[in-house]
Amino acid sequence: MSSPAQELSKSEQLYRIRHSASHIMATAILEIFPDAKLAIGPPIKDGFYYDFELPRPITPEDFEEIEKRMAAAISANQKFIQEEWPKERAREFFKDQPYKLELIEGIEGDTVSTYTNGPFTDLCAGPHVGYTKKCKNFKLLKVAGAYWRGDEKKPMLQRIYGTAWSSKEELENHLHMLEEAKRRDHRRLAKELELFGFESVAPGSVFWKPLGWASYRTLQSYFRELEEKNGYEEIFNPLLYKKELFEQSGHWDHYQENMFVLHSHDQTYCLKPMNCPDTMLYFKSKRRSYRELPLRVAEFGVLHRNELQGALSGATRVRQMCQDDAHIFVMEDQIQGEITNLLGMIDEAYGLLGLEYDLELSTRPEDHMGDPALWDLAEDALKAALNASGKVYRVNEGDGAFYGPKIDIQLRDCLGRSWQCATIQLDFQLPRRFELTYAASDNSERTPVVIHRAIAGTLERFFAILVEHFAGAFPTWLAPVQAIILAITDDQNDYAWKLANELKKHGVRVEVDDRNEKTGYKIREAETRKIPYMLVVGGKEAEAGTVAVRSYTDGQRGVMPFEDLKAEILERIETRALDVKIFKSELAIVEEDEEVDEMVERGY
Ligand SMILES: [Zn+2]
Ligand SMILES: [Zn+2]
Repeated sequence: MSSPAQELSKSEQLYRIRHSASHIMATAILEIFPDAKLAIGPPIKDGFYYDFELPRPITPEDFEEIEKRMAAAISANQKFIQEEWPKERAREFFKDQPYKLELIEGIEGDTVSTYTNGPFTDLCAGPHVGYTKKCKNFKLLKVAGAYWRGDEKKPMLQRIYGTAWSSKEELENHLHMLEEAKRRDHRRLAKELELFGFESVAPGSVFWKPLGWASYRTLQSYFRELEEKNGYEEIFNPLLYKKELFEQSGHWDHYQENMFVLHSHDQTYCLKPMNCPDTMLYFKSKRRSYRELPLRVAEFGVLHRNELQGALSGATRVRQMCQDDAHIFVMEDQIQGEITNLLGMIDEAYGLLGLEYDLELSTRPEDHMGDPALWDLAEDALKAALNASGKVYRVNEGDGAFYGPKIDIQLRDCLGRSWQCATIQLDFQLPRRFELTYAASDNSERTPVVIHRAIAGTLERFFAILVEHFAGAFPTWLAPVQAIILAITDDQNDYAWKLANELKKHGVRVEVDDRNEKTGYKIREAETRKIPYMLVVGGKEAEAGTVAVRSYTDGQRGVMPFEDLKAEILERIETRALDVKIFKSELAIVEEDEEVDEMVERGY
């Protein structure tokens, strides 16, 4: 770790800056609270934290004072000095620091590494920046409770989070991105726009309101249509099964802690966490021939997963969910063709929504089941399909599931955040567990390969991601209310309703605001609701069969014949036009999560 700073990778530089910033924060905290007990202070993705036991709760009002003292340590340009100490010396030095003493016991060998900057010495494996000046672009963000070692039986500590970057510009971009993320938070927008909510009686399950449900169903219809167009058939199976089904599928042994298990009538039942097992039953429900393959079976089943309450987060992490799930039963030589088709569907769907994505291929792990020749064939087919798609992809050697290789699709929203939504997972095992066969052309019985696939993944989550991606201002086709007609006076109410009924007849989601309010007030309200089209009608418009149009995206558009506007709205809905401005994050740095995770583990 002695290489000069300019040779370090960007992420290694940031790692050091952030780790050092956490030490500088501890330096400041000890000045304010000399009796503070220090736990750990690692760098994390985009920043750092330090866990403290303090005599009183810290609030954001304290940040200014802490930041001021940090800035002083930084402008003093303290040097970070590393020393190896015998454990005995470290125990003596940290004798009033119980968490450090516990950490020392966990370190192998007779010595421990320490880092000192100015008056502060920490038990630390490093590495750090050379001098504190490197850390000047930082900001404290929030404070939260955290159990020592993540164990709720251990003391609750105060975790102070901050962010640090190598330039002022990067810091400002990041803070701007955080503001933007807060503004777009789907929980806040879902409430303001009356899309959906949550109730304490059903933790982790979405309560859809009429507006959100209309939009959700539109999204679901799109995915259904995409499947129909690509030769899928759709089934719908029960939610509740005897546990035997999951014993056969393997979920009972390997996934039980995520399942809701019920006892009734001397039987053990489970709510299905996935559609795979019941889709296998469908395949098996009659004798199958090679002529039916590839057999593409979709199911928008209702799934339940027993996520810990602490892990639930708005609609992005839920207990009850619906996925645009499908299973494709193929012969071995059909794999490549199906993957090509799937990559095309993903590109179409994500392109439609202005989402970018990255592809990753995960190959055979050491511990795997099935015929090596089948693995080779499948991996070659996946690679050939990926190469033919012309997209760049990453290969994670040995990272596949034990039962088959997979392609992961990470979508990137407009803030540059990654979400895992789509998957393409090959499965050599499940068809064997269910003893699925088809009659091959030579009349022999053969086992199909199963491809599990989803494009949106969990629709509740995908919808929430879209709410944030569009900041609640959906493209017209997806908007909960697509147009609103505002009558200037009561005299135009009839005309307003006539136009609304005409649009409704064509399936447009339209409202009339015929309240006795000022037009300016009505427009402002419609804008707050982010309705794509506002049609203002007064006496002149009623007379001429026109409307004064305001659009959420383009503002004032002037007066036009109603028929022309109707044609435009219908065309945008029909073609699912992306008629919104999509914010683009200026964030220069997109980091690899894994790399950072690994770095977090390395430091202490
Ligand atoms: Zn450290
Ligand atoms: Zn599946």
